[in-house]
Amino acid sequence: MNIDRRDFFKVVFAGAATALTAPTAQARPPKELSPDAVGILYDATLCIGCKACEVECKAANAMPMSHDTPLEQAHGVSGLWDADNDLNSRTLNKIKVYTNGTAEVKDREVDGFSFVKRNCMHCVDPNCISACPVSALTKDPVTGAVTYNPDACIGCRYCQLACPFNIPKFEYDKAFPKIVKCEMCSERLAEGDIPACCDACPTGASLFGRVSDLLKEGHRRLTFQPGDWQDYPVHRLGGCEIRTTEVTGYYPKVYGETETGGTQYLLMAGVPFEKLGLPALGDDSRARLSETIQHTVYHGMMAPTLLLGGLVYAAYRHTHEEREDPSADQDPSETEAEERGHD
Ligand code: SF4
Ligand code: SF4
Ligand code: SF4
Repeated sequence: MNIDRRDFFKVVFAGAATALTAPTAQARPPKELSPDAVGILYDATLCIGCKACEVECKAANAMPMSHDTPLEQAHGVSGLWDADNDLNSRTLNKIKVYTNGTAEVKDREVDGFSFVKRNCMHCVDPNCISACPVSALTKDPVTGAVTYNPDACIGCRYCQLACPFNIPKFEYDKAFPKIVKCEMCSERLAEGDIPACCDACPTGASLFGRVSDLLKEGHRRLTFQPGDWQDYPVHRLGGCEIRTTEVTGYYPKVYGETETGGTQYLLMAGVPFEKLGLPALGDDSRARLSETIQHTVYHGMMAPTLLLGGLVYAAYRHTHEEREDPSADQDPSETEAEERGHD
C-alpha cells in the first residue's frame, strides 16, 4: 500500500488530536493513613548517642556484624566495635552525629552538636512501592509498616533510586542479593511487641506509638520552653515508664508530619533537619506525582501514538528517499562509465 506524506501526517495528527482532546487524566488522590498506623517518634534532644538501639536492631533482625577490627581479631572477639558509618546492607538503623565549630553544646546549631537516628521513614505513600515493578515492597494495611518480600524481588533496584531518603540498601557482596531496610520490626509488631530500637532506648528518644498520638506528643513538646522540666514517656507512648528531663529547646517542626505526603517515622531536634542530613521535601508524595504524570502521559494512549507516529515517519522517510534517489540502487562503476561517455 502506498501512502504519501500528506496522508501520513493526517493519520498521525488525527491520532494525536484524539489523544489530546480526550478528558484529562485525574490526579490520583493522596494515600490515607490507617487509623491504627503505628510509628516511631525520635527526639534528638533526648538521645544520648549510646547506640543501644543499633545493637538491639541488629540482634532483633539477625543482621551480621561489620568487619572485625584488628584489635578484635587480636583479642579473639568479634563485632565488639560494630560501628558502620552509615546505613548499609548490614545496618538498618544508624545513629549519626552533626557537629559545628567547637561542638560544645548539645542540640545547638552553632558551636554545637546533635545526634540523629536514620532508618526507613515508613512513608504514608512510599515511592519505593510505587517504583517496584513486582510488588516486592508492600505496606501493611493496618500498621503501615513497609515490608519486603525477597521471593518476589527481581533485583532491579528501582526502589533504591526512587526512595527520597536513600534508605534501601543492596547486598552487593552476596551471590543472591536482597534489598535491606528497616521493616519496623513487623514480626515483633505481629506479636504485640514494640520495635527493638524503642524497647532498647533508655531515655525515650525512640518512642513507639500510634502515629496520630505521636504527632500530638510532638506538638505538645513544641510548646515546651528551654529550661522547663517536663515528663517524657519512655519506650511506648501511653506506657507506664516516664522520665522527667530538662528541655533544651526544639527546632519548631515535627519532621515527617507533611514531608512527601507524611511518614510514620517522625523526628524532632534542636537543630534544623537539613543539617542532620534529612532532605527538604515538599508536602505532595513523589509517588502520587509520578503516577499522575504517567497516567496523564499514557491517558488516551497519547505518548504511544506520538512515539509510533515518529517511528513510522522515520521509516517512511528512509524508504521514500531511497525510492526517489535512483543512484542509490546503481552500481558506482556504471555511473562513472556513463559520465566518461558523456565527455
Ligand atoms: S523511606 Fe524510602 S524505603 Fe522507606 S518507605 Fe519511604 S520510600 Fe520506601
Ligand atoms: S524498627 Fe526495628 S528494624 Fe527498624 S530501626 Fe528499629 S529496631 Fe531496627
Ligand atoms: S538507644 Fe535511644 S538514646 Fe541510645 S542512641 Fe538509640 S535513640 Fe539515642
